[in-house]
Amino acid sequence: MSLPEAFTERLEKIVPHEQFDAILKTFDAPKQVTFRVNTLKSTAPELEAELQLAQIPYERVGWDFGRLEGIYRISPEDKLRLTQTDAFYDGRLYIQNLSSMIAPLLLAPKPEETVLDLAAAPGGKTLMLAGMMENTGWLSAVELQRERFFRLCDNLKHQGVTNAHTYMTDGRSVGKKCPEMFDRILLDAPCSSEARFKTHEPKSMSYWSVHKVKETSKLQRRLLLSAFDALKPGGKLLYSTCSFSPEENESPLQHLLERHGERLKTVPLTLPFDNVQKPLQRWGKEVYDERIQNAVRILPTDTIDGFFICLLEKR
Ligand code: SAM
Repeated sequence: MSLPEAFTERLEKIVPHEQFDAILKTFDAPKQVTFRVNTLKSTAPELEAELQLAQIPYERVGWDFGRLEGIYRISPEDKLRLTQTDAFYDGRLYIQNLSSMIAPLLLAPKPEETVLDLAAAPGGKTLMLAGMMENTGWLSAVELQRERFFRLCDNLKHQGVTNAHTYMTDGRSVGKKCPEMFDRILLDAPCSSEARFKTHEPKSMSYWSVHKVKETSKLQRRLLLSAFDALKPGGKLLYSTCSFSPEENESPLQHLLERHGERLKTVPLTLPFDNVQKPLQRWGKEVYDERIQNAVRILPTDTIDGFFICLLEKR
């Protein structure tokens, strides 16, 4: 099945012209599989010993990113065998795309902090936040959808997370209920998931429409305002989506800056790879605040999914 025509037309206007064809191809091919050690249950050397014993050829993802270790890639053909290992069953490793790992790494929570994950299920990023907090402090994980909420709870338990408090509630209400309570907030917002489209999986694209993108944008704006309200002065807020549409990325940030711009700054980001693009300066009738230029649009490759990230700090 081919990509929705309206989607490709819009994408061509968003990504760099010379990379458009290569980017389109990434929707066809199966991606390399990436995973990381769950530091709450194991260490990189222990996991590597298990992988060697299971005879699964792996490659270390050598990111120069603090003291990070324990991130690996394998070819798609080995994925089934990886999911049959004890390490997978017992939660000593977690399969996750590299761009998803970047969000918690940039938010960089510390042990003993108060952290909120405002749209958390199935919980891949919550698990990573808990690992970085070494299961200390207070980690609130919010999810609205019932089924996804229970999947989140199972995931956290299975992976040995003990510092998380889970709430099945609407993230839009959290800012008013918990004003200025959190040191760090992750809003990995519900989105139209454009970066997860796969031409060999028609279901991945079946719900998409420009109308849906615009509706999602309204929800994202309200979640972002709620996250701002819940953030302590001096605290950090990371906004991310797995969509390309400016309505879901630059626009909600613009909306936030128009309301609370005097209390916010954006933080310049350095990523450990170069398939990135600066945010757009304008889209349609909208002209975006200069500060949004510090955000990053990750462009998809055969390993990395497309993603958008902005890190904000409250004055
Ligand atoms: N961060 C997650 C991870 O890495 O596993 C993925 C989060 S996903 C992009 C967004 C989540 O937000 C979905 O599970 C969706 O059900 C949830 N959601 C949608 N609307 C919400 C709302 N109003 N409040 C809280 N969560 C919401």
